[in-house]
Amino acid sequence: MSITWNKRLIKTAGFCAYNKRVATPSDRNVRIELSVKVCDTAERVRDTLIHELCHAAVWFLNGVNDGHGSLWKYWAHAACRAHPELPPIKRCHKYKITHKFTYKCTKCGYEIGRHSKSLDTKAKVCGYCRSPFVLVTRGTATPRTPNKFALFVKDNYGSVKRDNKAVTHQDVMRILSSDFARQNSISSSG
Ligand SMILES: [Zn+2]
Ligand SMILES: [Zn+2]
Repeated sequence: MSITWNKRLIKTAGFCAYNKRVATPSDRNVRIELSVKVCDTAERVRDTLIHELCHAAVWFLNGVNDGHGSLWKYWAHAACRAHPELPPIKRCHKYKITHKFTYKCTKCGYEIGRHSKSLDTKAKVCGYCRSPFVLVTRGTATPRTPNKFALFVKDNYGSVKRDNKAVTHQDVMRILSSDFARQNSISSSG
């Protein structure tokens, strides 16, 4: 199967295409494409890819396309069991596109986003009020705040593995997940 980037995809974070007419199961094939513009953080790439891989599993292993039906859910659960550190796999992945540059109409305030400084403010005027645009934000990448669970894993992985001799990665993650949940329920309930 191929997994490629798609520069034109903006309505969705990714999709999975099947070859529908196949003579034998070994002819089944899948192509996953991820949106360069929507998947602009490591988390979005990870979450979109695993979502699409669940579709791929349904096609390769079950031989049907059931959308986000029970088979898709089965593989989503299987993925979460294998990787308990993952956030729940969502059925929908329409993300808001993060633009690096925003142009604002000087009169009515209408805004348009661009990935580069591609808007010619001398030529292009607002479609609503015919006033000129100005560039309002300069490319500032949103700072990555490491998520709490990732930090917790980083700090405690070694000790959990040591204290529970000879456990697998999955077991370590399971223990860490429940420890983390317990710790958070204590702190949030005061
Ligand atoms: Zn889907
Ligand atoms: Zn305007």
